[in-house]
Amino acid sequence: MVETTPKSAGLFGWYFNTSLLARIFTGLVLGAVVGITLGYSPDAAETFIGYAQFFGDLFIRLLKMIVVPVILFSLIVGAASISPDQLGRVRLKTILFYVVTTLISVAVGLGVATLLEPGVGMNVIGSGGAAGKAAQSPPMSQILLNIVPTNPIESLAKGDVLPIIFFAIVSGIALSLLRESKNGTVARQAGLLLDVCAAAAEVIYRIVGGIMQYAPIGVFALIAVVFARQGAEALGPLLLVTLSVYIAFIIHLFVCYGGFLTFSGLSFRRFLKGANEAMVTAFVTRSSSATLPVSMRVSEDNLGAPRTISSFALPIGATVNMNGTAIYIAVCAMFIGFAIGQPLNHSQQFTVMITATLAAVGTAGVPGAGALMLIMALESIGLKLEAGSAVAATYAMVLGIDALLDMGRTCMNVTGDIAGVVVVGKSEKALDLSKWQ
Ligand code: ASP
Repeated sequence: MVETTPKSAGLFGWYFNTSLLARIFTGLVLGAVVGITLGYSPDAAETFIGYAQFFGDLFIRLLKMIVVPVILFSLIVGAASISPDQLGRVRLKTILFYVVTTLISVAVGLGVATLLEPGVGMNVIGSGGAAGKAAQSPPMSQILLNIVPTNPIESLAKGDVLPIIFFAIVSGIALSLLRESKNGTVARQAGLLLDVCAAAAEVIYRIVGGIMQYAPIGVFALIAVVFARQGAEALGPLLLVTLSVYIAFIIHLFVCYGGFLTFSGLSFRRFLKGANEAMVTAFVTRSSSATLPVSMRVSEDNLGAPRTISSFALPIGATVNMNGTAIYIAVCAMFIGFAIGQPLNHSQQFTVMITATLAAVGTAGVPGAGALMLIMALESIGLKLEAGSAVAATYAMVLGIDALLDMGRTCMNVTGDIAGVVVVGKSEKALDLSKWQ
């Protein structure tokens, strides 16, 4: 969800000039109130659902419209941001740290959701009736093979997420290699194409900004339908999914980062004390990119990280290392599976592990970007976000509380970047340990 803050006069000025966050949250609350109230009168509820469905479906179609271009362009740009000729030992170590911690974060998310089972018993149904049975999942080896598209254009047209991700990452790497080519013409052309992709990504994010202006109405309609059908009981699962996401954040913070730091002979408490300014900034701005200057400062001034490492690791981290987003995707995918009565099986969870890790690479460090990547993860496991489906209704519930979840996940994203810088710095004996006294 990318926010814009247009100033608008005219008839709907009051709407556009109110903060988007406040509007979406209002949509959620109003939707719940209207839905619960209507739930007491089944006839009125059915008439209302008939109308509300249109506005809800419109929102879902708008979101679906931009999923494929978002994946394609933002992943090409994300993958190309790691220039291969810069890949020395330190840089490889940093990227390895990012990949390993991202995989751990998805595992933590899946584990917590398995234990707490948010969404179990909700039995959300779409307008098309009960959710169909989950498609039989192929074996692991097939899932891995299917990541490689036999025809990328076909994958794009069909919206097959994993092959698109693969193709985008390979293209991004090829572009960044060619950009450094000794042949000036090739280098220029590659640079040009990359600029085009970067511009296309910007265009898509601008469109997302526009779509989000409609989000409050879409969320209202979708949520009202859920509550009109489910009654007030739907509030409990919403609380539980929020709790699950935050519990997973805390476990990841203490076990994963705490573990790496302790293993490196660094004090976790001292780390938190040094990094907290960046953590709080990330929490309130909900943007890793906007927090970057603060992350740079605390890494160097408070935690003694050398500029040679932080100047590379933090910007790359703010682009590709999103542990909080990966946790959020894992927990919410599980939640949606439980809520629609199709708990994710092992191979679906394995696929989520891959998609959430790659989604983290493609997530822009801006507020709400992770919510788009969740759609991509859902599609990769066959939970299609069709208009009127149970998946769409449950997704709207998560979207309604996205700001709350985004605060925590951005905080985790930034903490993971800083942890990477100090752990790698320590392993290179490049950390100024006097800052850790
Ligand atoms: N807001 C997050 C960030 O900037 C990305 C996300 O929405 O998950 O790191």
